[in-house]
Amino acid sequence: MKFDIITIFPRIFNSYLNESILKRAQKKKLIKIKIYNLRDFSADKRKKIDDRPFGGGPGMVMRLEPIVKAVQAAKSKIKRDPSGSPDKSGQQKSKIKVILFSPAGKQFDNKIAGQLAKNYDNLILICGRYEGIDERVKKVIRNWKLEIGEFSIGPYVLTGGELPAMILIDAVSRQITGVLGKEESIEEKRLGIGVPVYTRPEVFIYKPPHQMRIGARCGGKGKKYRVPKILLSGNHKKIEEWRKKSKD
Ligand code: SAH
Repeated sequence: MKFDIITIFPRIFNSYLNESILKRAQKKKLIKIKIYNLRDFSADKRKKIDDRPFGGGPGMVMRLEPIVKAVQAAKSKIKRDPSGSPDKSGQQKSKIKVILFSPAGKQFDNKIAGQLAKNYDNLILICGRYEGIDERVKKVIRNWKLEIGEFSIGPYVLTGGELPAMILIDAVSRQITGVLGKEESIEEKRLGIGVPVYTRPEVFIYKPPHQMRIGARCGGKGKKYRVPKILLSGNHKKIEEWRKKSKD
């Protein structure tokens, strides 16, 4: 899976996407992330990418032209998958999707993440800022016969589409085969999300800070927090049943 990110803040992405599982996934070439700095596509001398809204009102709007050019650049780098089966019109099935972020978009969820991971090879992500992007961007992209999706990451308004893009990349990547190792497996696929988890010690004894000790052997008073007994029973069938019914 290749993610192309179009943004005016390229540096935002470096830290999060280059750590841990996503870093390893890139190293293993399971995912590829390329960042396009929108300002590089502005014909304007001062690299301006926004302008005042037609019809008046506060705030600025991201201009159409640099975004169209940036998507074009990302698109032209993508090789159509030669094994892609032809659709009804005899054309090769497009495995590219352009994604816009908007608080008014369709609510992004784990199901959509799974579908994106399964059905596409390239996701072009456009990160909005200010009051959003010129509405005509969508028309241009549709006229290129590219699929387009507009997602909201949650019911709140953020200052930009960069966090939404990283959330989408994270959620989609972990559903790509091989991205999660055995130790971080997609356990929720089997049992659903929200299964409570525990690790050592079996008994945690809380005492006021200056007396605090961990472990079952320490004497004295203190509040004990135990791991549910069933998880220590070794009875896998019963553990599975317990996990299923103990979801949040
Ligand atoms: N006034 C605008 C909000 C712009 S917020 C409106 O009513 O739509 C600026 C940018 O941040 C948006 O273009 C979008 O890319 C991003 N953004 C903000 N909140 C978001 C959310 N909940 N989900 C996805 N993207 C969001």
